[in-house]
Amino acid sequence: MKRLTPPTLFFPILFILCNLIASAQEFPQGYFRLPLDGDIGLSATFAEFRTGHFHAGLDIRTGGEVGKPVYSVADGYVCGVRISPWGGGKMLYVKHPNGYTSVYMHLNDYAGEIGRYVRREQYKEQAYAIVRDIPEGVLPVKKGQVIAHSGNSGSSGGPHLHFELRHNGHTINPLLFGLRYSDNIKPIIRGIRIYPTEGEAFNIAKQEEIEVAGPFYLGVYATDAAEGSTLRNGVDKVEIFVDGKLFFKYITNRFPLDSSRISNALIDYPYYVRTREAYLLTRSLPGAQGEWIPVRQGNGILRFAEGTTHSIRVRVSDIKGNLDEHTLNIKMLASIASDKPSTDERNTYPVVYNKPLKINGTELKLTFPAHTLYDNDRLHIVTSASSLYRSPVCTIKPCTVDLPPNEWYTLSVKATSPSDKAVIARIDGRRPTAYKTTREGDWFTASVRDFGQFALMVDHEAPRISPVNFREGKNIKTNTLRVKISDNLSGIETYNCYLNGQWILAEYDGKSATLTIDAHGAIKKGVKLRVAVVDAVGNTADVTFTIRKT
Ligand SMILES: [Zn+2]
Repeated sequence: MKRLTPPTLFFPILFILCNLIASAQEFPQGYFRLPLDGDIGLSATFAEFRTGHFHAGLDIRTGGEVGKPVYSVADGYVCGVRISPWGGGKMLYVKHPNGYTSVYMHLNDYAGEIGRYVRREQYKEQAYAIVRDIPEGVLPVKKGQVIAHSGNSGSSGGPHLHFELRHNGHTINPLLFGLRYSDNIKPIIRGIRIYPTEGEAFNIAKQEEIEVAGPFYLGVYATDAAEGSTLRNGVDKVEIFVDGKLFFKYITNRFPLDSSRISNALIDYPYYVRTREAYLLTRSLPGAQGEWIPVRQGNGILRFAEGTTHSIRVRVSDIKGNLDEHTLNIKMLASIASDKPSTDERNTYPVVYNKPLKINGTELKLTFPAHTLYDNDRLHIVTSASSLYRSPVCTIKPCTVDLPPNEWYTLSVKATSPSDKAVIARIDGRRPTAYKTTREGDWFTASVRDFGQFALMVDHEAPRISPVNFREGKNIKTNTLRVKISDNLSGIETYNCYLNGQWILAEYDGKSATLTIDAHGAIKKGVKLRVAVVDAVGNTADVTFTIRKT
């Protein structure tokens, strides 16, 4: 019999070693310069809570403009380029001799040799969105060299530079490296919430005396404004002292990039979705652990005897040590005997959070990898017949912990009337959102990362193509052509533009659903622009425009 060495045996040792090395080496001071000219103004801080992830870097303001020179923060070489219509847009990665990688996102364009390299690769692949790992020696850069210009590409809410420093799979707050940065504004505690384990959560506003019955945990919402800005950035440190002793501490120096989604489990997620206010919770869930997770006493739930009074001091601070504090006294009332509503266990399946789960129904199949949920729970699964869709409506949600899944899981539904153009869609939102779907006979399968209601829908509609700044047969003044493209359900899979039969680069901006084509003076006497767009189930729109220049 073959003996396997359990990798789990070595993992903890390796893990401890890595941590020791990381803490010993600290963050090199003065090694990196600023990526932009002038002083840093932040429109988002490191590790702010976002839906489904932490903010992995700093958002540095560019005065509402695009086109500011972006400098390499140290010597090194360009080790990667990624371009996406969504997310980080035009991204650039520079590897430095000290092992760090600096990352720049939402760029407008790449400078000099880097720009020429990217363009060559885009024409080689005939695609705007490319991903390239680049070996050392191809694109060396010097500290202070202009590598790009700042922009608003991808899912950016306004011109800015997103900047990160990464090391060994972690992203680290760039402000820890001695970059020139001033901040004299103190963070503000905006709210504290009490979460009784039996009963409704409530906000305590600015009260100093409150009464609570039974065990409870706390939530803290704090923001920090940057100089010259009213934006509500995140704070760097939250500490809670109970009767003078440290009970909870959360510092956002660094986190592993592959665990970013656990951020959902650290906050009151349903409340955040409703209000955009991220209440950091003291409660701990077994599936949301890691070396970078808050330090707490026990599981973060406070249990005090009836009639006792306790002081709770909340302190939030930023990286420069500016702080805000709030102290409250909590008087413990008699626990109310809870009439727990008897949970209806019909149509529910027990889930152990760190074990996989497989459900094989006659209308629905489900495969959860381990750690799809953050805690042991029961999963509520119901299918109900519907004439509106090509399958029964499938409802999937955990019974207790109202959090989206931490992992992608596989969902298969059986079609009542199958079609090659069918996709699995989540149907309980404002409008249906489709998932990339594969078909095997009557069964349709997608990888999903949501809970809610799902059903099979058919997409028979071709994508739409509409010119923005030109019209068929008319003269135009500019060399840059803009075309809006959209799809009703399954989503745009490919988009290609041809000028007089030749493939031409069309930059696709997801947020404005616009293709931008720089015709480089080719229009002159008149050109034919062909735009071909295909959706995820193969519906095609293919339009040719005749354009003349005045
Ligand atoms: Zn950002």
